[in-house]
Amino acid sequence: MATKELTCIICPRGCHLSVDENMNVTGNSCPRGAAYAKQELTNPTRTITSTVRCDSKLLEVCPVKTKDPIPKGKIFDVMAAINAAKVTIPVHIGDVVIKNVAETGTDLVSTREILE
Ligand code: SF4
Repeated sequence: MATKELTCIICPRGCHLSVDENMNVTGNSCPRGAAYAKQELTNPTRTITSTVRCDSKLLEVCPVKTKDPIPKGKIFDVMAAINAAKVTIPVHIGDVVIKNVAETGTDLVSTREILE
């Protein structure tokens, strides 16, 4: 594997990272950058934020996110599940909207309270 270049997205500083063929990381200003680079090159993951339709009189959609990062290869399946789902109110922050969404092992949860 040739040296890979990537930008750390863990914090706004956005360090420019280089990873050599032995998975040695340089350019990171803190250990989180090295951990991010190794994960990104072996099993890249993302936390998904989106919205789900809901039956509120006041809001058409409820904001949601995956509780934990999911594998990048599962993003399409997760978005399909999100697009097919509907939230029944009342809903509170942290309520599970879809358990084990798209068999990722993590839940899709509400990030907003909607009571009516
Ligand atoms: S390496 Fe550390 S300081 Fe640099 S962007 Fe990543 S988290 Fe931020």
